[in-house]
Amino acid sequence: MRNQDAPQGQNLDRGPGGDRGQGGERGERGERGDRAGRQPRRFGRRKVCPFCADKTLYIDYKTPSMLKRFISERGKIVPRRISGVCAQHQRNLCLEIKRARIMAFMPYSSATAD
Ligand SMILES: [Zn+2]
Repeated sequence: MRNQDAPQGQNLDRGPGGDRGQGGERGERGERGDRAGRQPRRFGRRKVCPFCADKTLYIDYKTPSMLKRFISERGKIVPRRISGVCAQHQRNLCLEIKRARIMAFMPYSSATAD
């Protein structure tokens, strides 16, 4: 049953950690072939904030599946220089994630199996 219809994927730019698999799809400095596997550290192009890009995306604590893209594996909120969210939306996001934590939709922290 899909009661919670969180807008999954597709319209979003890929979230934190989602860019393994196809790394550097549009590298500006066309070095491929030479050093396989090593990614250039600098930002190729600025990510656009997914919430600005898609006006229908609404930051809401009731859609933790959407908010989960913006927390790390351990449950921490990903800084916006990594996730690419703009300051305004990061602020909302932060609030909603905290709200979601209170409602136990999301973890404060999740223990890693070490
Ligand atoms: Zn934004």
